[in-house]
Amino acid sequence: MHVRTEAFIQDSTAAVQNDTLQSRLRVLTSFTVKRNAAFAQLEDGEALRDQARAIKEKTISNLDAYLTELEDNILRLGGKVHWARTGEEACAIVLDLARKHDVRRVVKGKSMVTEEIELNEALEREGIEAVETDLGEYIVQLAHEKPSHILAPAVHKSKQDISDLFADKLGTMNLKDAEEMTVVARERLREIFCTADMGITGANFAVAETGTIVLVENEGNIRLSTTLPRIHVAVMGIEKVIPSLDDLAVFLKILARSASGQKMSSYVSFITGARRTREVDGAEEFHLILLDNGRTRILADEEIRESLYCLRCGACLNVCPVYQKLGGHAYGSVYSGPIGSILTPAFAGLEKTKDLPFASTLCGACREICPVRIDIPRILLKLRSEWSEGGRDYAAGSSFLERLSIKLWAFAMRRPLVYSSLFRVAAFLQGPMLEDGKIKSLPLSLGGWTQNRDFPALARKSFRSMWRDEHRGE
Ligand code: SF4
Repeated sequence: MHVRTEAFIQDSTAAVQNDTLQSRLRVLTSFTVKRNAAFAQLEDGEALRDQARAIKEKTISNLDAYLTELEDNILRLGGKVHWARTGEEACAIVLDLARKHDVRRVVKGKSMVTEEIELNEALEREGIEAVETDLGEYIVQLAHEKPSHILAPAVHKSKQDISDLFADKLGTMNLKDAEEMTVVARERLREIFCTADMGITGANFAVAETGTIVLVENEGNIRLSTTLPRIHVAVMGIEKVIPSLDDLAVFLKILARSASGQKMSSYVSFITGARRTREVDGAEEFHLILLDNGRTRILADEEIRESLYCLRCGACLNVCPVYQKLGGHAYGSVYSGPIGSILTPAFAGLEKTKDLPFASTLCGACREICPVRIDIPRILLKLRSEWSEGGRDYAAGSSFLERLSIKLWAFAMRRPLVYSSLFRVAAFLQGPMLEDGKIKSLPLSLGGWTQNRDFPALARKSFRSMWRDEHRGE
């Protein structure tokens, strides 16, 4: 997996200074509002999350058995199963299939795992045209960019950006609204769907007991990618297997709600083998590639194993205060945001990606919102301590004043009396720095903390004293 995380500091500095990006990223809050409203309507939302986590725990602990069951069932249905240890092996399998079937054009459904293994690049090197058919993916492909969000790949682009891009690449006039742009993309893609030889998708789930690949989407492009071309290849990380259709029902109730606030996505496709005699649609051949690419290494590490439970819903990105300022590209990896800060080091090694676990406030919002309750902050702390082993100090480059402040903070945090006294003094002294109830600029070398965001004013009364006042006499 190719990563560009060495440039994280420069790229994130550029991201926070990019006004267009900052205005686009404000949309993330609305995703969370919709997600919360969708869960509020579910009577058993919290119980479903517990159930989903329990299913993942059980499956990941018995991954070999479920994968074997899945393979047996797919073979029974006439499909083919390929095992790939690395991204290169997975790409080689696809290329081999493409050569055997004289494939010149491929249509692709949105798939993070094919981004992870850089399948498009591998196909292009062989002279095979690979066209992304999800609208957001189509846009970033036209722009020669990478997706910046698991769910909304082009979230960083404004309408005007997309209009300019279409004018440049597709020769359209100055399109004004999203509807017009969608019509243009749909017309272009229809023609491509009808002439593609191979459809490539990921898989949201694979049901072991039936050999069914389940694909969740809103645009219908995956339906076309899996039914029009002669060959359908699904590329799937080994962690996506689930035991049964009953388990699937649990995940379908929480996935779309977490991702987009929908009760259910517009299309849920169940691919159970290739087209059978008397069936009118479906691919003539079905292949499933089961990809490891570092997943068994994660599986072997009990402390980070739960990152394999991830459903790729994107909810933790939307709620993360760091992602909300940076967007996805600064992370330098196909997996961004809180879950990306765990997966990228796990896949690419901590040496290259050391900045990512430190790019978090550890506020815990990601853990709170995650439909399978992955304890992301705990894993981030584990990665931080792993990197710091042997006396390495991540904060070595910070100023004396900043380091002193952190030491004083740590000292006070361990002594409640000192902490509350310091707070009272600071709340009294902050007056001259306040502007509209916020601290817009901290002095001297602490100024970095307010360079790109404001601090809320320190409360005059601590939580403890408010609690005491509230409960006096009880
Ligand atoms: S870690 Fe949880 S919230 Fe984040 S993408 Fe994965 S499933 Fe969704």
